[in-house]
Amino acid sequence: MNRKTFLKTLAVLPITAAAAMKLNELNKMTAPLSSTAKMPVLFLGHGSPMNAIEENEFVAGFRNIGKTIQKPNAILCVSAHWETRGTFVTAMQNPPTIHDFGGFPKELFEVQYPAPGSPDLAKNTKSLIKKTEVGLDDKWGLDHGAWSVIKHLYPEADIPVIQMSLDYHQSPQYHYELAKEIKSLREKGVLIIGSGNMVHNLSMVAWDKLNDAEYGFDWAIEASEKMKKHILDGDHQPLINFRSQGKPFDLAIPTPEHYLPLLYSLALQDKNEEVRLFNDKAVAGSLTMTSVKIG
Ligand code: ZN
Repeated sequence: MNRKTFLKTLAVLPITAAAAMKLNELNKMTAPLSSTAKMPVLFLGHGSPMNAIEENEFVAGFRNIGKTIQKPNAILCVSAHWETRGTFVTAMQNPPTIHDFGGFPKELFEVQYPAPGSPDLAKNTKSLIKKTEVGLDDKWGLDHGAWSVIKHLYPEADIPVIQMSLDYHQSPQYHYELAKEIKSLREKGVLIIGSGNMVHNLSMVAWDKLNDAEYGFDWAIEASEKMKKHILDGDHQPLINFRSQGKPFDLAIPTPEHYLPLLYSLALQDKNEEVRLFNDKAVAGSLTMTSVKIG
């Protein structure tokens, strides 16, 4: 074989399987998101960070719900644990796993969730939102509101994940309207997840009831029942106006960060779309794990 023929042969040689796979991965990360059937939307009650490493009924609930959903192109998570002034989306290629808690076993600090990010989805999300100038963030990553639950849905960490922050000085109505602007992502294979807890009052935890499988204070149950009724009726306005719903709501939502992700999920619901509750239990008196699947 002369040199010329050799070079020609080289040029048409099939690329190795490994190189092809790498190329595929690269294409997956940089290609625009393809259109898909409308993805469902989730609100996940994340509860204790220990749910990341424990085996319990809530973890089983997360795992089961993951199996009912077609594999997403990407995930966008609004977590209770990322509050900012202004709205940001994580835009790095490889978001670090953030261990944003203290006083838990070493094992929990060792958990890594190495899902890739999606700078493209971050830019796409930014361009969809007109209500405010969304910032592209390169410093956050995945906090436990995101990874402690997403890891049960997608243990392989093979789906790109971005987070969107909560602007702490905006009204509940503002958050609800903002969320509506990203609705079209549901048709791009993006699974949008709100992660928080509907009833979440850590200062009133019933420490003596921690080991009871299910325990809620009267006010927690009352707030939870009303929230669920509004969710199932598609009656969102009282949920947005949660500060006018009386004492049980005030006790259930002492600060709004764990509740607001619910409003993001509800805002993405289309008329007559099916809503299903799961992991619907109170724990430790002042928390509910109630989670929602829309669509
Ligand atoms: Zn939390």
